[in-house]
Parts: sequence; C-alpha cells; structure tokens
Amino acid sequence: MNAAELTIDLDAVAANWRALDAKSSQSVETAAVVKANGYGLDAGRVAARLAREGARTFFVAIAEEGKAVRTSVGPEARIFVFSGHMDGATDMLQQSNLIPLLNSAEQVTRHFAVSPSHAFGIQLDTGMNRLGMEQDDWDALRSELLANGPSLVMSHLACADEPGHQMNARQLEAFRAMTAGVNAPLSLAATGGTLLGSDYHFDLVRPGVGLYGGFPFKEAEPVVRLSAQVIQTREIQATETVGYGYAYIADEPRTIATIAAGYADGLIRAMGPKAQVYSGNTPCKVVGRVSMDLITVDVTNLEQVPASLDILSAHQTVDDLADAAGTIGYEILPSLGHRYGRTYRGST
Ligand SMILES: *Cc1c(COP(=O)(O)O)cnc(C)c1O
Repeated sequence: MNAAELTIDLDAVAANWRALDAKSSQSVETAAVVKANGYGLDAGRVAARLAREGARTFFVAIAEEGKAVRTSVGPEARIFVFSGHMDGATDMLQQSNLIPLLNSAEQVTRHFAVSPSHAFGIQLDTGMNRLGMEQDDWDALRSELLANGPSLVMSHLACADEPGHQMNARQLEAFRAMTAGVNAPLSLAATGGTLLGSDYHFDLVRPGVGLYGGFPFKEAEPVVRLSAQVIQTREIQATETVGYGYAYIADEPRTIATIAAGYADGLIRAMGPKAQVYSGNTPCKVVGRVSMDLITVDVTNLEQVPASLDILSAHQTVDDLADAAGTIGYEILPSLGHRYGRTYRGST
C-alpha cells in the first residue's frame, strides 16, 4: 500500500460524459477536453475510455499532448489543439495527425506555408481576449480560410460557470455575428456552456472539468478519491502547539494524527485552517500548517483512528477542497501529486 493512494474511477468519467452528452440534442456532438494530461488524471486512459464510450473528438492544449492522446485513441478520432499551429509544432501536428485551431494571422500564414493540405480549425475571440482571431484578422482572412474547409470554427466563453453573467449573452451574440453564413461546424460551449442550454450548443460541445467531476457540473459523479495513511498519532495537552510556526495551539487535550501527504502532493498550503479530512463519514479538522509531505489532523472525535484518512471522497469533492484553499477545482485536479499510488477503477 502506498503512503497516499489516489483512486480514479473511469466509469464515473464515462458516466459524466454520457450525462453531459444528454444535455444537448442528438445532432450535437459531445467531444472531450483532455488537456493538462486529462486534468491530471491521465489523458491516455481517460481518452481511451471515452473513445470506447463513443467520443470521437478530443481537445488538448499543445501538440505534445495530442501526440500522447493519439496513441491511445487510434487513428480515427479527431484531436484538436487549442494553441494552434505554433512555431516548431509542424512535425508533431503532421505525424500525429492533429488539427491545429489557428488563432492568429501569423498562425494562418505558417499553416498554409508549411502544411497547406493539412486539416485545420479556427479559434475566434469573442471577448475573452485570450486565444483566437480578432474581428479584423477574421474579416481579412475569412474567405480564404472558409474556402479551405475548416474542420471547426470555435470560440470560448469567459463566464459560462455563472449562468446569469451578461458576458454569456454578449459572447453568444458576437459568435453568431462572426460566424453568420459560415457552413463549417461551430462550437462555443465547454462544460459551463453545455449547461447554459441549446442556444450555446451549436454543432459540438467540448466539456472538460465536468467529465472529471468538477464544478459547474453539479450533478457529476465523483471521479477521484484520495486517502493518506496515518503515520503517527499522539496526545497533546492544552497549550501545546502543532506544526510549523506554532500556528495551532490546543485549547484542551487533543489527539493529533499525522498523515502522509502535503503541499508537494498538490494539497495547497493555503487550505490548512479551513480544510478537513474524513474517517468514513466523520470529518476531522486539519490543524496547524500543511507541510511539504505531511498534514496534521485533530482526530480527538474518533473512537478509533483508522489506518488512513480520506482527503477527497464523496464527502469532500475537489471543489470543496478548493474552497478551503481559496482556489478552484480546476487548479486542484491537475496538481494532484505524482507520489500518490494511482489505482484506476472501472473498465478501461
Ligand atoms: C479548457 C477549455 C475547455 C474545457 O473547459 P471546461 O470548463 O473544463 O469544461 C474548452 N474549451 C477551451 C478553449 C478550453 O481552454
């Protein structure tokens, strides 16, 4: 048994993909975003499982990731690259048959100079100002690009996890205006947009975080479970302190368990004072500062201290833990450490 064990439920990932697929009509394709190594959970395994489930299109951030995903999904699946056709990426795009989403006039020039017959998509900026062609570039290049038959024309929403945010409707409007008369397949929605309703679905939705059990897909099945072994337990008296900086001072006698995981494993130090871990259904408070490899927990309320305590489970999701650390589940997931023993459950 490893000091800390991360269990990843591929059946839950598949169930979440199906549930998100069911949010849009039959004619809308549901793709899967597996960037950042499948949000830290292993892009190869996740993509292979979802390909078996029926997913035909995958998205990654950079060509290197696409190369890895290609080997696990076989030659038929489409793999789009959000960062587009970057300098130096040509060989990898070609060898792994990846489709760059061209983001700028510079990328368009590069793409048609070095691989004019290679499939491409187009990313448009509709107000997020992160990636994608601006209106003026699009106006200038649109007819040339459309004449070459893009595989997809897409944009990305900045505020889709807040359904009432006025930016959603504004970006929808901008996307409609920029794509009026385009007969290539269109895509605007990630997880949040998929949940905003059919106006946002177009031809293809591309959820990421919801597949992995994260907000804003509240109905998601939990995908990850993380438990860490108790290394040592001790009794402390009132006024004794725990951990670096004497940050916790006992007000009465306490039992303190030290568990084998810390900020080097992605358990952000900032979560310390607000976080808890679980023994079955029973929460136990984290006390003192999170160390690099260790966390100290008040287990006074437990009748018996178990061999390990759960950090992520059905009782505490990545988003709960993220809240305690003042961040978002998106940041917790890909940070989950490489020291953990990893067990994949469900069919592969
Ligand atoms: C990350 C990303 C997605 C997936 O977003 P989620 O919120 O994780 O569903 C989709 N499209 C683009 C452009 C992205 O960068």
